[in-house]
Amino acid sequence: MADVESSFRRIPAIHRLLESSCIRDTIAIYGRDSVMDACRAAVDALRQRIVDGELEGTAIDAACDALESEILQSLHSSAQPAYPRVINAAGVLIHTNLGRAPLVQDIPDSLASYLALEYDIAAGQRGQRLAPLRDRLARLSGAESAIMVNNNAAALLLILAGHAHGRQVIVSRGQLIEIGGSFRLPQVMAASGCHLVEVGCTNRTHLSDYERAITGDTAAILVAHHSNFRIVGFTAEPGIDELAGLAHSYELPLLVDQGSGNLYDLRRWGLGSEPTVTSLLDAGADLVCFSGDKLLGGPQAGIVAGSRRWVEPLARHPMYRALRPDKTSLVLMDQVVRAHLSGHLERIPLFRMLEASVETLKKRASRLGRRLRERGVPARGQATRAALGGGTTPAETIASYGIAIAGGQRLLDALRTVSPPVIGRIEDDRVILDLRTVFPDQDHDLENALVASYGRLETNEAGR
Ligand SMILES: *Cc1c(COP(=O)(O)O)cnc(C)c1O
Repeated sequence: MADVESSFRRIPAIHRLLESSCIRDTIAIYGRDSVMDACRAAVDALRQRIVDGELEGTAIDAACDALESEILQSLHSSAQPAYPRVINAAGVLIHTNLGRAPLVQDIPDSLASYLALEYDIAAGQRGQRLAPLRDRLARLSGAESAIMVNNNAAALLLILAGHAHGRQVIVSRGQLIEIGGSFRLPQVMAASGCHLVEVGCTNRTHLSDYERAITGDTAAILVAHHSNFRIVGFTAEPGIDELAGLAHSYELPLLVDQGSGNLYDLRRWGLGSEPTVTSLLDAGADLVCFSGDKLLGGPQAGIVAGSRRWVEPLARHPMYRALRPDKTSLVLMDQVVRAHLSGHLERIPLFRMLEASVETLKKRASRLGRRLRERGVPARGQATRAALGGGTTPAETIASYGIAIAGGQRLLDALRTVSPPVIGRIEDDRVILDLRTVFPDQDHDLENALVASYGRLETNEAGR
């Protein structure tokens, strides 16, 4: 114990650390409290290492000498953005862990100003927050009416709470889906206060299964798009038109969780067909809900589109107030909606990535490969397959192009330690960096990141 105490005496006191010029100078940058906290945390950690017997003798002096630089390092990293920019070279366009659809680059200046959020400029009085956007959202979806909430999980929650609270909702067993990020359909249904009635089998559900389940207590039929998996083989599911016919004959609404927000024929980009929001409404769905940050290419949001009769009550539901979107997502959504309505998809980053031809990507890859080889990194062009991601078209990929470098997992890991970090993937022990998801103006950063991380690998190798 005496030993530990004498070791503690060798640790500089907090006020001594604060007096040292390099620490004192950081107060103006990080604030006095943060600097004090960092000093205390570093000293506490050092004490703990001594107590744990990790450090003895001269190692303690070395650790004391390293304290200042450790404190500076910790102050520096605590001042970095919590959500740093990364280069997505994984070839997954809607990458949920990387923020799904990237936002437009020209962020509207109204966001850094006061804006007419709930203000009717012509009348000079209070307006309704959602009113300016509702017609546009409805037009985009091909619906009579639409509203927007924070995400698609919230949209579904609101639909079910608004139209099925305390009553039964019929769902096929083949559609009891889990989406990443803890969205599980049965749990969302339970949270909304409705009762799930499962019908059919995992692979086959028939119209008659639905019809048999309808009781006086049924509030709706719900269809959830199997967005992130495919059931193949001996399968059957009634069409939306048939289900709508059945639901309407019992005066029930047909609700569809479409998920992706797809508005187009995806074959245009070499993908398979996926039902569009409009086609579901045209087939008779009363309400369709979907995410804003998947195939719409916008900010996180959930949109409910459908007939006035079923949409309007949701806008007045008390839960709506808790789920309503903030000004940031409304402004960004409006910008994306206008791009869709005017046919200017090139304004939306997601669609620029989809539109890029393999030829263009190949040219970028060979230019990048050449530069990298000149700088000592043995990279070469490589045909790849990119994926849409975000739980859309799970079984399909898009022809793409990138670069391949030998180096395996260690290079992949090293690429995440540079700034900006690069997220790639491994195929056959080679690192693959897909250029479809890399913005063209990031090629230079990608090049530097590769040179730095490859250099780091070689240094480590030499040091072994
Ligand atoms: C993505 C998705 C959700 C969840 O949407 P969020 O916007 O992430 O809340 C729900 N249902 C389906 C079918 C989806 O594809």
